[in-house]
Amino acid sequence: MKRKDFLYTVTGGLLTMTALTGLKRFTDGLAQEDSLMPVLFIGHGSPMNGIENNAFSQQWEKAAKNIPVPKAILVVSAHWLTNGTFVTAMDRPRTIHDFGGFPPELFAVQYPVPGNPQLAAETKALITSTNVGLNHDWGLDHGAWTVVRKMYPDAGIPVIQLSIDYSKGAEYHYNLAKELAALRKKGVLIIGSGNMVHNLRMIAWDKMETPNYGFDWAIEMHELFKKKITEGDHAALIRYESLSKSAKLAIPTPDHYYPLMYILALQGKNEVPVFFNDQLVAGSLNMTSVQFG
Ligand code: ZN
Repeated sequence: MKRKDFLYTVTGGLLTMTALTGLKRFTDGLAQEDSLMPVLFIGHGSPMNGIENNAFSQQWEKAAKNIPVPKAILVVSAHWLTNGTFVTAMDRPRTIHDFGGFPPELFAVQYPVPGNPQLAAETKALITSTNVGLNHDWGLDHGAWTVVRKMYPDAGIPVIQLSIDYSKGAEYHYNLAKELAALRKKGVLIIGSGNMVHNLRMIAWDKMETPNYGFDWAIEMHELFKKKITEGDHAALIRYESLSKSAKLAIPTPDHYYPLMYILALQGKNEVPVFFNDQLVAGSLNMTSVQFG
């Protein structure tokens, strides 16, 4: 039924409960078509989450089922740090096994998704604050593929990556991310993949199997990050070093934190955060992930 006919039927006839339910379903459907693609910050944690069927990876699968099917995916991963900003522009991004000391099964994983050179060019054109380079030799690092492969195992949706200019600070990344907003209207799913609390040197190896175990400073920052995200206090999150003395322990280097800047910058006015995988791991990490939209 065409929209015009449907509205005529509803407004011209007796407005019954059935009609109201129908109208709601109709507008819900419209909203989904017209609405912005959600944005996701995903705490990726250990690369093993990419092959294990565990509570974290199950939530990644669930997240994909709860949002519209994207036309393409753009990932900002903690594991692609560059001087300057680049976007992958190859037809077939390779699966990069950028880790050591893991079992052969993890090295054997291939995620043969297509790239999207056209989206790469569009992304380059959208970002005017800096000259974005088109990259032809990166691919998908484990920050991208461990997550996206769980979400979309069929490997049918094109994936591109945007690098993190590691010579720049949090505010730079936040501002640059704002330039990506138009992609949300085009059905592109933007994922920031990192971890808010991420101190590998302080991992409590004996607590790997203890659920939700965090050191005091990690618990403090974990709660503080969520509080500031809930309050929409982006300025405080950009100046994360001033949040607390514990910030230095939670973020000894900002590589895993910067992807969050991209997702915060893309939060719409009335979008509230939905947290998932909200757990501490091995004392010095958290897996807390957040969806807007
Ligand atoms: Zn990582």
